[in-house]
Amino acid sequence: MGSEIPQLHIFFFPFMAHGHMIPTVDMAKLFGTRGVKTSIITTPGNVPLFSKTIQRSKDLGIEMDLKTIKFPVETGLPEGCENLDAITTGERSKEMAIKFFKATAKLQEPLEQLLRECKPDCLVADMFFPWATAVSARFGIPRLVFHGTSFFSLCTTVCMTMCEPHKQVSSDSEPFVVPGLPGDIKLTRKQLPDFMKSNEETDFTKMLKDSKESELKSYGVVVNSFYELEPAYADYYRNVLGRRAWHIGPLSLCNRNVEDKAFRGKRASIDENECLKWLNSKKPNSVVYICFGSVANFNSDQLMEIAEGLEASGQEFIWVVRKDKKDQDGNEDWLPEGFEKRMEGKGLIIRGWAPQVLILENAAVGGFVTHCGWNSTLEGVTAGVPMVAWPISAEQFYNEKLVTQVLKIGVSVGVQQWARLVGDFVKRDAIEKAVKEVMVGDRAEEMRSRAKALGEMATRAVDKEGSSYADLNALIEELSLTRNSNKQAS
Ligand code: UDP
Repeated sequence: MGSEIPQLHIFFFPFMAHGHMIPTVDMAKLFGTRGVKTSIITTPGNVPLFSKTIQRSKDLGIEMDLKTIKFPVETGLPEGCENLDAITTGERSKEMAIKFFKATAKLQEPLEQLLRECKPDCLVADMFFPWATAVSARFGIPRLVFHGTSFFSLCTTVCMTMCEPHKQVSSDSEPFVVPGLPGDIKLTRKQLPDFMKSNEETDFTKMLKDSKESELKSYGVVVNSFYELEPAYADYYRNVLGRRAWHIGPLSLCNRNVEDKAFRGKRASIDENECLKWLNSKKPNSVVYICFGSVANFNSDQLMEIAEGLEASGQEFIWVVRKDKKDQDGNEDWLPEGFEKRMEGKGLIIRGWAPQVLILENAAVGGFVTHCGWNSTLEGVTAGVPMVAWPISAEQFYNEKLVTQVLKIGVSVGVQQWARLVGDFVKRDAIEKAVKEVMVGDRAEEMRSRAKALGEMATRAVDKEGSSYADLNALIEELSLTRNSNKQAS
């Protein structure tokens, strides 16, 4: 940035879930590398998830800090529960998630207090904080919305909300075309989030409605994507739906060295060097990586089916399993008898958290079985690997369509039903077939070469003069001008 523009100070306020916090901290870092002073706002329980990254950024000369606000008390929510991650298991998880969202709505007041004290020039706040637009307006600063998803799914959501085509089909499995959306995209009612299908107004649906309205009143939207990946949808979002949006991704590419890539969100449950040593001993494109993000939680039967499907596929693998469930004798009831012994040297199970970006970009990885969370999907694109799409919830069924039908860099495992956390049951044969389809044969090679080309475009997009680099520059300049004219007016 030229020295004629005084330094901007931007607040970044992510929702307390890994899929939101990880790209937000990357985004703050990215703004920081362009000379913007950035502050991440979070609650005390989430500090450890940011502090190391912030320290490392500071060491690199990036002006970045962390500001905390107290997590509100909410009856029925256990003390210390400050991250959605903490409530993804157990029968009461849905009830707890509702309480969690309710608690986060009370963050408005402490945030206002912080804005009053620090007087930043802009607030980038998560879509799950709809009230952030009005709060920013009170302080005369722009509010940018961060959804953490693709242009494709942003457009799909708007088209679905406007036209409600799912209300015009006669059954849950009858396909309908998403009206207006380029590409003749078909969905079924089964694949839609339950809150979209129900007419009942809940606190959650009300919050989503408020979120949509507050987006329209906001300064605009920052998107973790790059233009070349989904030009038709980036154009549609801006030019047809009339939204102000800046694409500044892939955000994960702001992590340049091994340690930054290895430590995103949580400390990995495997030593990164051990993991790299294992991968480096494998042939290029010979390992399939399986991971379902930070929220999804399969039961033992499904995990067993995955194990058997993987073994039958004959492919080498790294499989990330959330669960560390053992029976009374210390055995894990989700693994077939003798599985790990048979798979020794062939497959690696990571119990807990994997250094995902580091794994994906290794030359040995030739395919990715993913739940199509947007961060994972984009990380897969960036790494240039074909994907098996296994969507579970949120907007993952939309991202599945982007991967399999628009970009043609993946195959569906065949999930039909949107579900919270646990997912639609997929049989071993389907898993085996899908894994083979992305790993071996001519079709796999075609998908891989398309994915590789997109991965190269991703790298170019964030390089100097690339499309995301330019859009971020344009945004920073516009925010500086807005700040200056606000200052003159006051
Ligand atoms: N992730 C990771 N290690 C894991 C699981 C997830 O680093 O073992 C990261 C992954 O790289 C991505 C994020 O967590 O950046 C998950 O976000 P995504 O949108 O894919 O899914 P969500 O967790 O929101 O369902």
